[in-house]
Amino acid sequence: MTQPVPLKVVIIGGGTSGYMTAAGLVALVGSAVASVRLIESDDIGTVGVGEATLPQIKEFNDALGINEAEFMRETKASFKLAIEFRDWGRIGNSYLHPFGAFGQPVRGVEFQHLWARARKMGMTTPLEAYSYAIVTARQLRFDFPSDNRQSLKSTFSYAYHFDAGLYAAYLRRFGEARGLVRTEGKVTSAAQAPDSGRITSVTLESGEVVEGDLFIDCSGFIGLLIGREMKAEWESWTPWLPCDRALAVPCERAGDFTPYTRSTALEAGWQWRIPLQHRTGNGYVYASSFISDDEAAARLLGNLDGAALADPRPLRFSAGRRKKSWTRNCIGIGLASGFLEPLESTSIYLVQIAVMNLIALFPTRAWNPGLATEFNRLMDIEYERVRDFLILHYHANSRDEPLWTHMREMTVPDSLTARIEQFRHRGHLVRYRDGLFNPASWLAVLTGQDIVPEGYDRLADSLDEDTIRTKLEEISERIAVNVDIMPTHADFIRDYCYIPPVRESEGVPA
Ligand SMILES: Cc1cc2nc3c(=O)[nH]c(=O)nc-3n(C[C@H](O)[C@H](O)[C@H](O)COP(=O)(O)OP(=O)(O)OC[C@H]3O[C@@H](n4cnc5c(N)ncnc54)[C@H](O)[C@@H]3O)c2cc1C
Repeated sequence: MTQPVPLKVVIIGGGTSGYMTAAGLVALVGSAVASVRLIESDDIGTVGVGEATLPQIKEFNDALGINEAEFMRETKASFKLAIEFRDWGRIGNSYLHPFGAFGQPVRGVEFQHLWARARKMGMTTPLEAYSYAIVTARQLRFDFPSDNRQSLKSTFSYAYHFDAGLYAAYLRRFGEARGLVRTEGKVTSAAQAPDSGRITSVTLESGEVVEGDLFIDCSGFIGLLIGREMKAEWESWTPWLPCDRALAVPCERAGDFTPYTRSTALEAGWQWRIPLQHRTGNGYVYASSFISDDEAAARLLGNLDGAALADPRPLRFSAGRRKKSWTRNCIGIGLASGFLEPLESTSIYLVQIAVMNLIALFPTRAWNPGLATEFNRLMDIEYERVRDFLILHYHANSRDEPLWTHMREMTVPDSLTARIEQFRHRGHLVRYRDGLFNPASWLAVLTGQDIVPEGYDRLADSLDEDTIRTKLEEISERIAVNVDIMPTHADFIRDYCYIPPVRESEGVPA
């Protein structure tokens, strides 16, 4: 029997999404099924930000067989256990959204109900004392979670902060070693079959014509193929997420070497702080209708830990997504398919899930249209879940600047209203099968933004007060004792993945 000819896949774009797609395809689909060619233009460049991730990135790297310590060394990465939200909800507030659970269920009763009942009993221990990830993060420590599912130490996970440019370069080397063909050049046009409307080839500025069967558009905000050629409709979510600009600036490493990202709410948006081994990434994401670019730049530069290493780099965007990011034989991945501000570090996750969905639904030349329908359905769910979660951060606030008043008073999607009400009423956290975020994430942000349940699941009343008190004290004490003996984040990184020598004055990696 003759083998089918491999599908010719052409990827436009060599940013994080282009190289994650390419690496995923060459490693997990293989050359017998697909040949992969990536075209990118060094003249155009990449967006160059995107340094904080979610724990799912580890699953992606593991699936590709990437060695963690090597990858962290090459991308100058640090560990990330949580995101700290400062001044969100109200000025002076600080809470962490951890990668992991709060406590453990007791006799089938979910932990947040036990905690709510304990509060009514007069216990005042804050929720974060029951989170392994938060207690570790607050103490600037790190250790790997346990593999033993019975252990409390298995109740957290971790992600990375890394240099996005170095990650793309790392994946490029990974891909090229496995058959990826990379072409430098600028795509100027595309040809479509008159009958099917499918793309048949793209033409480069040099005149070279590159034919393909499947075209993956990773060209960034411009959406070269999925937008311009396929005319896939864009659904705007700016009424709910009005931030439309960012200024990004790296600074010298200084201050705490935090195993978490920091997000500080400001008058017209928020500022990120992402510590890498060799520098700290910073940026101000803001709504241009509430602050001028000059004011935003001054605010950002006034808030850095160390000396700026470059001028602030401006970026423009708008929140939304393509309604059909798979249209005919073209799939938009990354910024070409949608954008949600980086408040919860979700963009690289959305790239990853698109790549994994594509691999699971990988087409043949028979072009079953059901594959695209299913891909688009799955991606819709992902985007909408993230959208609601982001809006929650803005909406539940008691700040008084114009942006924050506007966000508090606006009408939010019905899906979010329903979630908030279920939690407020009796601490119920809705679970879903697909998409981010899990109930612990919602619990962290809902309570962090001062939404406290009025009641709890009556099942919590099936346990007597002593049992609840003893269990809760046991959990917080075990976490505290175990975290106390963990290495610091700086020491862990130093031993695990090479970094330059330590500057003794700071006690953190230089
Ligand atoms: C301010 C900001 C902060 C962010 N922070 C985070 C974060 O912390 N975590 C996170 O997960 N995500 C973050 N993101 C999102 C993240 O940066 C992107 O998801 C990620 O970089 C993927 O971008 P991309 O590869 O889709 O596009 P790009 O990086 O823009 O790459 C586009 C590629 O297409 C090529 N190209 C374009 N036109 C042509 C052409 N005509 N011919 C040939 N090649 C072409 C370019 O040369 C480039 O290689 C952030 C985004 C912004 C704007």
